[in-house]
Amino acid sequence: MDCIFCKIASGEIPSSMVYEDEKVAAFRDLSPVAPQHILVVPKKHYDSLEDIPMDEMDIISDIHRAIRKIAEQEGFNEDGYRIINNCGKNGGQEVPHIHYHLLAGKKLTKLVVD
Ligand code: AMP
Ligand code: ZN
Repeated sequence: MDCIFCKIASGEIPSSMVYEDEKVAAFRDLSPVAPQHILVVPKKHYDSLEDIPMDEMDIISDIHRAIRKIAEQEGFNEDGYRIINNCGKNGGQEVPHIHYHLLAGKKLTKLVVD
């Protein structure tokens, strides 16, 4: 499958990888919107949250566990962070491989919808 995030997660395309385990990879966003902007993805391809079979939803727990490890590793676990998942067309998802935006490094403004 010709998927940019599959290629990054497998190491086929170089990226600024910040974390990797058996199931999850995390790398820096090309166009950061916060001092720290990391994308956290499963190594297995799913188009979006809606594409994950119910019996494979444990991967979401794996992603969240990875997020806590990254927050500690990068030193923003104490001051906090924001996680965003854009799901599908109306959610504003542009890359069709599920990913969580992990934003940190400053006090973020109240979430705006538009
Ligand atoms: P979304 O709009 O939720 O699908 O987010 C896609 C994100 O992927 C955007 O923040 C882009 O800046 C980011 N992005 C796209 N291509 C790459 C890439 N090759 N490496 C890192 N980040 C990327
Ligand atoms: Zn993919």
